Amino acid sequence: MNKKLFIPGPVDVRPKILEAMSTPMIGHRSKDATKLQKSISEKIQKLFYTKNPILLSTSSGTGLMEGSIRSLTAKKAVVFSVGAFGDRWYQIAKSNNIPVDYVPSEWGKPTLPETVDKYLSTGKYDVFTITHNETSTGLMNPIKEIAEVRKKYPDVLWLVDAVSSMGGVKIEVDKLGIDVCITSTQKAIGLPPGLSICSISEKALEHGKLVKNRGTYFDLLTLYKYVVKKPFQYPSTPTIPHMFALDKQLDYILNEEGQENRYARHLKMAKITRQWVKDNGFEMFPEAEYESNTVSAIKNTKGISVAELNKKIGEVGYVISNGYGDLKEKTFRIAHMADRKISELEKLLSILTETIKKL
Ligand SMILES: *Cc1c(COP(=O)(O)O)cnc(C)c1O
Repeated sequence: MNKKLFIPGPVDVRPKILEAMSTPMIGHRSKDATKLQKSISEKIQKLFYTKNPILLSTSSGTGLMEGSIRSLTAKKAVVFSVGAFGDRWYQIAKSNNIPVDYVPSEWGKPTLPETVDKYLSTGKYDVFTITHNETSTGLMNPIKEIAEVRKKYPDVLWLVDAVSSMGGVKIEVDKLGIDVCITSTQKAIGLPPGLSICSISEKALEHGKLVKNRGTYFDLLTLYKYVVKKPFQYPSTPTIPHMFALDKQLDYILNEEGQENRYARHLKMAKITRQWVKDNGFEMFPEAEYESNTVSAIKNTKGISVAELNKKIGEVGYVISNGYGDLKEKTFRIAHMADRKISELEKLLSILTETIKKL
């Protein structure tokens, strides 16, 4: 049975988009490929609210996390982590031999602007990373406030993991001053997994020249060179099916649903879920005011068996997520992102209510 996915990626994909993925192939050096890339770039710039160039990578988002921290750190990076995906960035830096400092928050707590200020003021770093929406803890970081303190350090490059929020939450890349903003297709954008996207600032492209060993496949400067020199093409063969699908989905997001409507729908779904949490005697996992709009992490205050709950709702065609890592049975997560309808979420929540009563 096809289960309705309420997990934080992959998400359910609209049938029209799945269809677009089976468009007959074109050569990746053809004029048609250039046209397709150009079209996607222009639409992504709108989605990201940026004039910066857009790079695509045939990889999941982790590829661009690796690519950005490796291609752009000439001195030392500082990773602010609020959970598993922030930790991943630290892991990537370590395994690539990149000098890095690690600044974790207690899980469920945000990265505070004053912490960022404190570290950047040392002058030790040329790169810092922030997870916008931490999927493991259902936490959304105060990115606007972080952008404010960052203004004091314009030369330090700012890399943002927006993998599980871009497309569901408004992130104004240029206004915030983000140098590299990364997302994947299989979360709030609503495509199958396999493609990731980032914007990159001129400042980052300049700074990257100071880095000697940027690798090959994920070297952002090489990717950029191909986008510019051979207009809108890529160094290796990209996932063309995803590109057909992304181009169509962006039309849908920008012109059919509309960006503001899409953000409002995500916020509404988050609020409905938070209300359900209260009404059913649970608590949200992250600190109040920092809850994510795309994925709700819920404390298992009633000590139910999350595995059993998922098994039961699976029998009627639904799936949610257990907690991440050590939080496996201590929390559970309900994702409400991409093209999920409010009515579908309401249906899931009423099934959860009934199922929990009988556990
Ligand atoms: C899913 C996720 C990632 C990893 O992305 P992949 O596309 O699976 O490589 C990174 N960061 C966050 C916040 C995520 O939710």
